[in-house]
Amino acid sequence: MSKRSFNDYTLSEDIIRALLSLGYEQPTDVQNEVIPIALQQKDLTVKSRTGSGKTAAFGIPICELVEWEENRPQALILTPTRELADQVKQDITNIGRFKRIKAVALYGKQPFAKQKLELHQKCHVVVGTPGRVLDHIQKGTLDLERLKYLVIDEADEMLRMGFIEQVGAIIDELPTDRMTMLFSATLPQDVAQLCHRYMNHPIDIEIQTQETTKVQIEHTLLTIRDSDKFQLLKNVMVIENPDNCIIFCRTQEHVDTLFRQLDQLGYPCDKIHGGMMQDDRFLVMNAFKRGEFRYLIATDVAARGIDVENITHVINYDLPLEKESYVHRIGRTGRAGKTGKAITFITPHEDKFVAEIEGYLGFEIPRKDVPTAEEVALGQLAFEQKMQSTPVIKRDKSDQLNKGIMKLYFNGGKKKKIRAVDFVGTLAKIEGVTAEDIGIITIQDNVSYVDILNGKGPMVLKIMKNTTIKGKLLKVHEANK
Ligand code: AMP
Repeated sequence: MSKRSFNDYTLSEDIIRALLSLGYEQPTDVQNEVIPIALQQKDLTVKSRTGSGKTAAFGIPICELVEWEENRPQALILTPTRELADQVKQDITNIGRFKRIKAVALYGKQPFAKQKLELHQKCHVVVGTPGRVLDHIQKGTLDLERLKYLVIDEADEMLRMGFIEQVGAIIDELPTDRMTMLFSATLPQDVAQLCHRYMNHPIDIEIQTQETTKVQIEHTLLTIRDSDKFQLLKNVMVIENPDNCIIFCRTQEHVDTLFRQLDQLGYPCDKIHGGMMQDDRFLVMNAFKRGEFRYLIATDVAARGIDVENITHVINYDLPLEKESYVHRIGRTGRAGKTGKAITFITPHEDKFVAEIEGYLGFEIPRKDVPTAEEVALGQLAFEQKMQSTPVIKRDKSDQLNKGIMKLYFNGGKKKKIRAVDFVGTLAKIEGVTAEDIGIITIQDNVSYVDILNGKGPMVLKIMKNTTIKGKLLKVHEANK
């Protein structure tokens, strides 16, 4: 059988070029199932394990389907957490880079006015958390008239108590003539039925979750008394000596305490939970993605969708009480074809929760004895060495894609009656520049930003210093990163 390729689908050159720049050589299983159907604009529910390439499975068809010429939002993607909204926006921007797709993220604890301004400009795709999206709809700042595509990511969470009312209220405002796609790693029966209420004869796709969960991730259970957990954690760390690891706790207080304890011992660690300021949450998450520290201590806020390359270990310091949560947590490792380890601590009275998780997974999680003093002693030297090593900072996924892109700043915008077509018209007349070399254009009241692609930025910058746009000579320089 020949190898699958993105060329097998009816995707435009712009999208395929972006996928290649992102290093996506072949579609993953879920992408292979979803893309052809989504391109036909049929409703879909998709159950596929986290890390299987779900975001691109809806991101690719959405970027392909939206019409660049339309200024008003055409696609809405709902996610349960702000970090995930931000990440999905980034993924959409990357996939749509050469088609110049403009994505905007909407979530709480960020200035409403700034988001309003972004929505006021050309915007193809909106990614957001339900509360803030609803807020924009109610205040009339999110125009839904041209909306044609709805994605509910992490659908099981979104259609649960707490979110369901907001999600329902949002859907009530959307045009009924739309395509709806629902994605989740877990899709309980009641949620699956509920989804169908919002959809038009959806096609249900399920990618064999159990097998990959079992094969790509090595699961272990260690039984321990509560009071001995911290010592066990230290021992496990020595033996496993993980490169990158998330340690999940049940509550914010546990996260704070464990972080303090590990930090005092000099572990390269940080923490994330819902009680922290949003900006701090982003800073921590981004530093973890770059590999600036190795241990992230987290509540379930970090369990969903968050994509960090090469997490080798997930430790459940506290057992999750919901079976679905186990699947989401451990899905932070063993991503994109890699393998990983999930080690779960249980106290003697937690057996019934384990039984539920095992029933849900469809296999028994192997129980092991806690490490012996000899085993710990054997690993000590290697552990100390890694503790002393300086972290290797990882490159961002989009770096490669951003190579050759220069963002230019112009000191004129809407108030000078300048529109995107004026930039395209002027820039494409420069010798050696075509519309293909012009990236995302953002026009604000008094300033504009234009991405110049393919390494042509410096040349365009030089020429634009002496070239008028709509008869006006604007100041131009490279925009601050
Ligand atoms: P997701 O399930 O969307 O969180 O994606 C998991 C990881 O797989 C992300 O780091 C993606 O960038 C990566 N990925 C998605 N699609 C592909 C592909 N076709 N080839 C290689 N990596 C991919």
